[in-house]
Amino acid sequence: DAAPESVAVQIKEVTFAYDGQAQNALDGISLTVPAGQHVAILGRTGCGKSTLLQLLTRAWDPRLGEILFNDTALTDFSEPALRKAISVVPQRVHLFSATLRDNLLLASPNASDSELGAMLEQVGLQKLLEGDGLNEWLGEGGRQLSGGELRRLAVARALLHDAPLMLLDEPTEGLDATTESQILDLLAQVMKNKTVLMVTHRLRGLANFDQIIVMDNGHIIEQGSHAEL
Ligand code: ATP
Ligand code: MG
Repeated sequence: DAAPESVAVQIKEVTFAYDGQAQNALDGISLTVPAGQHVAILGRTGCGKSTLLQLLTRAWDPRLGEILFNDTALTDFSEPALRKAISVVPQRVHLFSATLRDNLLLASPNASDSELGAMLEQVGLQKLLEGDGLNEWLGEGGRQLSGGELRRLAVARALLHDAPLMLLDEPTEGLDATTESQILDLLAQVMKNKTVLMVTHRLRGLANFDQIIVMDNGHIIEQGSHAEL
């Protein structure tokens, strides 16, 4: 179950409804993302952006249609192989009741303490290393993190995992302008050789994406390069 070196994504006529929901969250979505391409996903709240990213992680399977990575159906991947292929910054970041170290090691159990420290510094979370450092207990019964700290922790997790496909759901939501540009610069460096789908509300920086899709009500309503749109 080695990680593929690169991931091309094909989404074919995917329709999905959450259990108990009459309306489809996604309705006939088709999207082709060649390996190494960067796609920005825009659209107003509730249009299905996060659902689309979550289907790519197999949190749920489509009701209709299929998703392929490198011409292999997602359903044919083993769970470990999928995990190795994908780095995720989810919209809602979950903090485990565990040490800072274990919260970072989730998807990359082999990272050393010095690698973890360097990564915390890169995402501007070096302050967390004061006091008990990586042994500090987080979550329930321990230290809580602010919304912005949580997002940066999630970015650190995703970068430590270093997979060929990155799924980023508003990675800089709620960050101040300085921290946002720090994180975006960091992401820009690591995104270079990866396939990226990024949900964003920022219109600035869209020219850096190869493809932009605009969703509405479970559909893709606009699609093209920055120049075309
Ligand atoms: P936002 O910009 O606010 O994050 P979004 O585009 O990411 O919105 P989704 O979270 O994908 O939107 O939600 C799409 C639709 O599915 C919405 O109508 C939402 O209410 C519904 N939905 C999302 N998650 C669930 C769930 N777990 N169970 C039932 N319905 C859900
Ligand atoms: Mg969302």
